Amino acid sequence: MTDYMNTSGRIFDIQKFSVHDGPGIRTIVFLKGCALRCKWCCNPESQSFEIQQMLQNGKEKTIGKDITVDDVLKIVKQDMPYYRRSGGGMTLSGGEMLCQSDFAYALLRCAKESAINTAVETTGFAAFDVIDKMLPYIDTVLMDIKHINSEKHKKFTGQPNELILENAVKIASKASKLVIRVPVIPTFNDTEAEISDIAKFASSLSGVREINLLPYHRFGKDKYDGLNREYLMGDLHSPTDEHMEKLKAVAESYGLKCKIGG
Ligand code: SF4
Repeated sequence: MTDYMNTSGRIFDIQKFSVHDGPGIRTIVFLKGCALRCKWCCNPESQSFEIQQMLQNGKEKTIGKDITVDDVLKIVKQDMPYYRRSGGGMTLSGGEMLCQSDFAYALLRCAKESAINTAVETTGFAAFDVIDKMLPYIDTVLMDIKHINSEKHKKFTGQPNELILENAVKIASKASKLVIRVPVIPTFNDTEAEISDIAKFASSLSGVREINLLPYHRFGKDKYDGLNREYLMGDLHSPTDEHMEKLKAVAESYGLKCKIGG
């Protein structure tokens, strides 16, 4: 374990007491860097691997720092009593943890060796052998499927979806638990037909029983201003509760347990 403990990577945040990103009470480790550029991304400061400056409440803030697995786990382990009582643990998020695969692997492996429950939030956009190596050390994979149409996927995220869909099939056949998550984005994938296509695909995956629909929100807009970047979602608003309930019913019609939110 010692060698892996010294592996270093780049994060931009560690958030404690999360109840949305995997079971129980969790500590979320946000890794920097992502291969996608989703127009609605609420963490634009996560996308570049580079350390950046961002204006936050009128003050310059440095986004990103290099840290060892040992130092991350020292922070994660502070909440062991909460994990034990709630079934929680550590979740790797981002950005996309697959962009720092050696660091993510070392974090997951050392966490499991310390009896910490592990989860990852991922787009699954990487060569499968990179993901495959990590799977024995992951308790829950939370995987985004954003659209079934590759052209539309590329238009809104910068990348096609073939690799993602192929990896979803492979992950489903090997993961302890796979939950599909869908960010519901107006003008992109918020129609009943589009959610139906995604739910149909999710229900075809071996062992997948659960899908989460995550309604679009505008919380990240100020960060785009802080990074001096244009916010690409214009004036679009979150889908209404009524519309989300309709989409939930569509997903449930495929026999999936569907939750609105994380
Ligand atoms: S995959 Fe996630 S982190 Fe990456 S650009 Fe899309 S929303 Fe942002």
